[in-house]
Amino acid sequence: YSAKRSASHINFYDSSMSEAAEHKLKLLGDLRHALGLGQLSLFYQPIVRLKDNHMAGAEALLRWHKSPHELLEAADFVPLLEETGLIVTVGNWVVEQACRQLAVWRQQDNDFIISVNISPLQLEHLDFYQQVKSALQHHQLPAEALILEITESALLGHPRQAKQTLKQLRALGVKIVLDDFGTGLSSLSRLGSLPLDGLKIAGEFAEQLQHQKGKRLCQAIVQLSQALELKFVAEGIETEYQNNMVRQMGDGLAQGFFFGYPLHPEQFALAHFDL
Ligand code: C2E
Ligand code: MG
Ligand code: MG
Ligand code: MG
Repeated sequence: YSAKRSASHINFYDSSMSEAAEHKLKLLGDLRHALGLGQLSLFYQPIVRLKDNHMAGAEALLRWHKSPHELLEAADFVPLLEETGLIVTVGNWVVEQACRQLAVWRQQDNDFIISVNISPLQLEHLDFYQQVKSALQHHQLPAEALILEITESALLGHPRQAKQTLKQLRALGVKIVLDDFGTGLSSLSRLGSLPLDGLKIAGEFAEQLQHQKGKRLCQAIVQLSQALELKFVAEGIETEYQNNMVRQMGDGLAQGFFFGYPLHPEQFALAHFDL
């Protein structure tokens, strides 16, 4: 019985593996055409000032309208875009699209900012600086209105090129923040020498705020950002309790479902600009 059972188990495992591979291949085929078909869009999630709950701006998050009844979140397909290199083309479109939206919303709120996620692959391209500069000029935006979110892995591959590009962008006035801080291979010894303006504290820390140790850990990261003269954004704030906790820790920004879900631009404007 046990031999038979394990044999059928192996069969089941094999077929599900190839199904997963087939699914991925199909998804990839569809993804290649998504941008051209106008199926990609940016949703926006508010970023709020902790001291007074004032909305400072929003993070742009990719969405894929795969079919009329299928909306995929970035987590479901951005890894595929990165694996295939498609993220470079899509990423340039994201920067342009976010700047277009930023110009519109700055007519409602003249100090509104937008934060855009940048893939490590984009930073390796020599023309990335020019792409960003052109998008800002095209929409007559001050560079200070744009924040780029990079990951620690962006500084691993071609660190010299990436650092150089980031320095150029900062010289222009663009702000650079390190996304998901505390979850990666944080080399704390290098943190002081990176061209950065802020840290986005990963949502995992907000999850631990009901415990004493978690609270102190979060406080320590806030203090770390202060020691390095970096701004902080607390991510993944889902409850009023978490909001109160981080507000007591320091003068920074916060983001999460408690303040608002990522929304289509029209819904975002209705919910947050009271139009
Ligand atoms: P991220 O930049 O850390 O974005 C935050 C993710 O957490 C988003 O998922 C957002 O929907 C989700 N989130 C926001 N608030 C909360 C909360 O309170 N609780 C919980 N549990 N989750 C929350 P999403 O949109 O699926 O994005 C996943 C990741 O995909 C992003 O992580 C970012 O690394 C990447 N990504 C998204 N858009 C782009 C893009 O335009 N370009 C690139 N290169 N990457 C992108
Ligand atoms: Mg404002
Ligand atoms: Mg981000
Ligand atoms: Mg993040």
